[in-house]
Amino acid sequence: MKLFLEFFRQKVPKNTRDTRSYYQHAVKLNDQMLAIYFVVSFLLVSYAAKRLFWPPIVFLAVLLFKLYSIDKISVRLNLLLNVLIICGWTVWYALTFGWGIGGQHMLILLILQVFFCLYEPPFFKVIYFLLLLSLRLFLFYYTSNHEPLVVLDSFSQFLMQTVNTVSLFIIVASCCIVYSTNLQDTERQLLLHNEQLQQQAETDPLTKLINRRGFTDIMNRFVADHPDAMYCVAIADIDFFKRVNDTYGHNCGDYTLQTLAALFMERSTDKYFVSRWGGEEFCFFFPDVNIDDAGKIITDLLIEVRKMQLEYEGNKFSITLTAGVEENDYRSPLSELIESADRKLYLGKKNGRDQIVF
Ligand code: GH3
Ligand code: MG
Ligand code: MG
Repeated sequence: MKLFLEFFRQKVPKNTRDTRSYYQHAVKLNDQMLAIYFVVSFLLVSYAAKRLFWPPIVFLAVLLFKLYSIDKISVRLNLLLNVLIICGWTVWYALTFGWGIGGQHMLILLILQVFFCLYEPPFFKVIYFLLLLSLRLFLFYYTSNHEPLVVLDSFSQFLMQTVNTVSLFIIVASCCIVYSTNLQDTERQLLLHNEQLQQQAETDPLTKLINRRGFTDIMNRFVADHPDAMYCVAIADIDFFKRVNDTYGHNCGDYTLQTLAALFMERSTDKYFVSRWGGEEFCFFFPDVNIDDAGKIITDLLIEVRKMQLEYEGNKFSITLTAGVEENDYRSPLSELIESADRKLYLGKKNGRDQIVF
């Protein structure tokens, strides 16, 4: 009993900014259209077999009750009520009027619902499908061997078959539109979200520069796409940056990094790519540039930084940079060239800082 209750307690995941419970939306539309179908069927049945006017009213009443409580009950209870309504209707219709009227077509709606319902495991869907198939086969064999309870005149048969076919097509088509557009929407949102995540994962939040991971990808991609191209790499490190933090505070250190990053970005104008390589280290990549030109660009940057007057909360100070530059030698892999630039940077530090080492 407990298991049984648990089974019917499953809820549609709550709507969030990114996920819409399209199942609920489609089932609601399905129910509304089915309600119209029952009203039309009530008119038809009342016309063709007057004393049987009440079953469509009963089905309509149950359906309207379900439609009213659709947001309050669980997905499985919803599905169970759908099964009761549609199977009940199909059985009643086929036994009363025979196979030729096409009431059994409505079973297709149930298949559609369970297969597009993302919240059920595949095993459940297959069992459900087999049960529906069995019911339809049973109805076919039964109605082949038994006379219907009501034998309709040919005009009524024609009318009912037409209404059943047209209704089924309209309901199936509209539900498919809801399911497919919602799936496409979800896919689009996922792709967008992935792109944003990817961008976040490759961006340094403080300086907004690309980080080491993203930058390594860019450089590797360039080298793979242009195996014969000339290029240079440079690593620049702020001199005595710890002193900036210790003297003026960590926030001032952050401000310094942001100011430098903004300057490097502003001066890049297609000549180089720049990234935040580590704490106070920046890595530059110069595609299709030789070491003379790359050295000149870095020298200009170093001079500009040296001259720059920084001011944070009333404190005025300036900084210098030390950099190492390396050129593609057409033998070493990119990682070795970067290591070599790093060794040159270390040499510059040892030789007194505020310099560029080629
Ligand atoms: P050197 O000239 O030898 O490079 O000396 P340095 O003081 O610049 O180098 P050191 O490696 O001793 O210190 C680097 C400092 O950079 C230490 C660390 O706290 C600081 N740092 C690293 N990342 C950040 C950051 O994101 N914000 C701030 N404010 N400081 C950072
Ligand atoms: Mg430093
Ligand atoms: Mg450093």
